[in-house]
Amino acid sequence: MAKIQMNTPLVEMDGDEMTRILWQKIKDILILPYVDLKTEYYDLGLVHRDETGDTVTVESALAAKKYGVAVKCATITPNVQRMSEYNLHEMWKSPNGTIRRILDGTVFRAPILCKGIRSYVPGWKKPIVLARHAYGDVYAAVDMLAEQGEKVYLVKEDKEGRETARKLVHDFNGTSGVVQGMHNMDESIRSFAHSCFRYALDEKIDVIFATKDTISKVYDGRFKAIFEEVFAEYKARFEEAGISYLYTLIDDAVARIVRSEGGVLWACKNYDGDVMSDMVATAYGSLGMMSSVLVSPDGKYEYEAAHGTVTRHYYKHLKGEETSTNSVATIFAWTGALKKRGELDGNAALVDFAQKLENATISTIEEGEMTGDLIPLFAREGVTPRKLNSEDFLLAIQKRL
Ligand code: NAP
Ligand code: MG
Repeated sequence: MAKIQMNTPLVEMDGDEMTRILWQKIKDILILPYVDLKTEYYDLGLVHRDETGDTVTVESALAAKKYGVAVKCATITPNVQRMSEYNLHEMWKSPNGTIRRILDGTVFRAPILCKGIRSYVPGWKKPIVLARHAYGDVYAAVDMLAEQGEKVYLVKEDKEGRETARKLVHDFNGTSGVVQGMHNMDESIRSFAHSCFRYALDEKIDVIFATKDTISKVYDGRFKAIFEEVFAEYKARFEEAGISYLYTLIDDAVARIVRSEGGVLWACKNYDGDVMSDMVATAYGSLGMMSSVLVSPDGKYEYEAAHGTVTRHYYKHLKGEETSTNSVATIFAWTGALKKRGELDGNAALVDFAQKLENATISTIEEGEMTGDLIPLFAREGVTPRKLNSEDFLLAIQKRL
């Protein structure tokens, strides 16, 4: 066959460790033989981030802004141990954090479902996509201890420093205790709402957003009101697409999600999203089957796997031992990006290729060929699962592709 042509490049962000090894193999085995791949390549591997004083991360994010679609490999976020392991000049910030700040985006996590890999919640037949508002609240809070006898106030000042409002938080006359002050910004909440509604339209799924506005009347009430206001802009398009938006209380949302069959976008405030994304991911089985996309309010997309660089497998690989690392989420990062690029460019052949690669990946697993992490999760009548090494799994997909 003639290779599928691309009109506009993808922004390619390479990464670290085992996922860097998989990255190259996915390209060599599943993409380059079929697509005349055009990418603008940025090496976000820790060595190169260190060499460039981390400017490469910023440049890659700016390129994502320019071209609109990026695909990213998992990267190391340095800690003390990585400082010495890689002999770093500085403890560079999380690349994902840097990219998110520049794109001002929301992260959507969606499980990749296969027959035979059952959810721990048997009713969940379709993906539950979780969107976490990744700004503010308790993650940007200040807190203090309060001594017995102290009073704590919430005080507002205007630009000139004149007090405009004061509220007593608590009078600690009886006992010592703790206090906390947190904030969020209308602009950030609005961006979050736009990202959620845009994603739902793209994927044609319903949206649930929940807070605790019966208790937190002003704070959570503001989230509710902004979502309502933003939704007014999308209402007609939602009706046309046959999807719905529901606002409810967080307790009610949890109950609805557990009872649902999935197929919904669950928009969560920062803390709810932190906790619930781990619950949803775990319930669907494996980290290797969770994909992730950062969507900016002005419609830029960055696709990646939700998992990290799978360090333990990389050290095995370095020792020359065989690995069986799940590449599905990284393959889906590529297919997500290729599909989106194809949609934006009106390139049907590219969209079709990406869909076929996803189908081939899923049927490989459904027919019993998979990596080691999935073996204990797999149960399908008449199919005996077979564990393949990292490369053989990709070759098994290629055979079907
Ligand atoms: P991790 O790389 O996700 O791995 C945690 C464990 O989960 C692995 O050791 C493995 O378990 C299992 N696992 C995850 N992905 C798998 C896959 N594709 N196939 C098979 N098993 C898989 O998380 P981590 O160990 O906490 O972090 C490692 C590095 O990744 C850190 O340097 C961190 O900074 C970075 N990280 C990056 C991102 C990102 O770029 N988005 C996200 C998270 C972490 P077994 O070892 O039991 O097989
Ligand atoms: Mg968490």
